[in-house]
Amino acid sequence: MMNRQRILMLLAAYAGIATMTVADSSAISMAATAAERITANAVSLDPDDPNYYKSFAPELAKTLARVPQLDPETGLFVEEVKPNLFYVTEGIYTSAFLKTGDGVVVFDAPPSFAHKLPEVIHQHAPGEAIKYLIYSHDHADHIGGASVFGGVEGLNVIAASGVVESISEESHRGFLPPTITFEQAYDLTLGDEVVELKTASFHSENVDLIVYLPRQKFVMAVDTITPGEAPFMNFGATADVGRYLKFFDEILKYDFDIILSGHVSLLGNRDDVLEAKEYAFDVNSSVLRGMETFLEQFNTTFEAFEYANPNLAYRVAIESVRRECSVEVIDKWKDRLSVVDVWADSHCQAMILYYIMH
Ligand SMILES: [Zn+2]
Repeated sequence: MMNRQRILMLLAAYAGIATMTVADSSAISMAATAAERITANAVSLDPDDPNYYKSFAPELAKTLARVPQLDPETGLFVEEVKPNLFYVTEGIYTSAFLKTGDGVVVFDAPPSFAHKLPEVIHQHAPGEAIKYLIYSHDHADHIGGASVFGGVEGLNVIAASGVVESISEESHRGFLPPTITFEQAYDLTLGDEVVELKTASFHSENVDLIVYLPRQKFVMAVDTITPGEAPFMNFGATADVGRYLKFFDEILKYDFDIILSGHVSLLGNRDDVLEAKEYAFDVNSSVLRGMETFLEQFNTTFEAFEYANPNLAYRVAIESVRRECSVEVIDKWKDRLSVVDVWADSHCQAMILYYIMH
């Protein structure tokens, strides 16, 4: 509930920010607790600043224990995680390729390591031609290295028809134009292997893809979860939080035990998806509770501001809900997922904006 005392506290918090950034930070930092820290502010190198970088939690040991060791020579980690299915990462982005006995299928081409993929594929699938490249979605950070396969004769590039336009508009970014497109689903059988593609909508502005390999019990859904960690900013920078929330039940319908989600060096499993779902819905519940008093908080703040500057009053209401959500979520999740205190603010804020608009 918003009352005058609460408004005064909020105003004091703003005064604190101003004081901290302008002059004397020591008085503020003495009063600042972890719960008071406004983590959306700039991270600081100043030990007296409440947002001092060392005041953020280190990565959890259980997350670090899962991180694969990169080959110091190649700067990559490559592993046959299921029969004929190879997983590749340089520590930040991930992709995979499938050996079929009748050619190789490549899933995404992140520009950060795509130039190394032809050699890696040649090593692990000697004598097999690269026959298919599949785009998970139209974002350059996952497929902008495709042009390294530009000289591969007879290469088929598969994408959902909904991404063709944006890819052609951005052809300077290393994309290869798709040669096979489809509306909703596309099944590919090559050699001994089966690849099932289905369009979905959980991340990009256009169309996303769920890739499923039934024999390997493997799914790929890029920019969704980050195994071992809280999701990246704004829930994997999703274009629509509501669609992101629906993703979990959609992917859990598949019979899988490995998920490749495009980021962090870890491969995920079914438990990672269940955990990420629980986290996202905790943020959802917290924000829904906060939104019950959102207008009341705005009105009371606006009144306290003597009906001047409604934008600032709106910001106060958003930040109040965000702060309560962040504190609650960080407290509940800090021992379960890494980097919760880095991104929780953004998750709460993205959810608040979603509920303001829906
Ligand atoms: Zn993306």
